[in-house]
Amino acid sequence: MDIARQLYQLQEIDLEIESDEKALNGVVVRLSDNRVILEAQGRLTSAERQLDELRKRQRTAEQETEDLVVKLTTAEGQLYGGRIQNPKELASLQHEVELFKAKRSRLDDGVLAIMDEVERAESGLAAAATALQKLETAWNQEQQALTAEAAKLRSKLTDLTQQRQSLSAGVDPTVAGVYDKLRKQKGQAVARVEQGVCRGCRISLPSSDLQQVRSGNLVYCSSCGRILFLP
Ligand SMILES: [Zn+2]
Repeated sequence: MDIARQLYQLQEIDLEIESDEKALNGVVVRLSDNRVILEAQGRLTSAERQLDELRKRQRTAEQETEDLVVKLTTAEGQLYGGRIQNPKELASLQHEVELFKAKRSRLDDGVLAIMDEVERAESGLAAAATALQKLETAWNQEQQALTAEAAKLRSKLTDLTQQRQSLSAGVDPTVAGVYDKLRKQKGQAVARVEQGVCRGCRISLPSSDLQQVRSGNLVYCSSCGRILFLP
């Protein structure tokens, strides 16, 4: 095999290694990324807190109502019990009973409003729990697929590295050095020659260079400096 073909094949392997390494990095990043789950867990926790808070408010409001009912019952007992005869006192009690009743009505409305809020918060909590469960299922499936993908890429990279080693074993170290330098500088060290044109820089090659390439010699493009390869 002539040297240009050998280097071109080396480059094919190197480009594949490069792209597989990039893919592997992407997979590894996604493997450790559980932000979606953490965010959903955060929403669930906040829904739980909100519900707890509302239930506390409900209990407080209900307690307040119970206390008021005791006061109202006592006042009504005094009002209708017949032990108090003084009209002024009775009028004052009557007034007190009315105030208690009005307050009780306000408290009842408040309790009903909180119960509505509790109901909505319970639905919100259930929705957050379902959403988290769905995300966790999808995430676990994705992680399994990504783990398999990473294993596949790692094994492929091992094969490619072995192929590269055996292919580059026969390359002269000086030429290998030039190849590595060009790869670093230009991304592609070896350019195909198609219809007399260097595909690396799209410049027409002098016929003397083409002749050299055809003979299987190591020729560098006089324009871009890449190693020329005639397929
Ligand atoms: Zn060129």
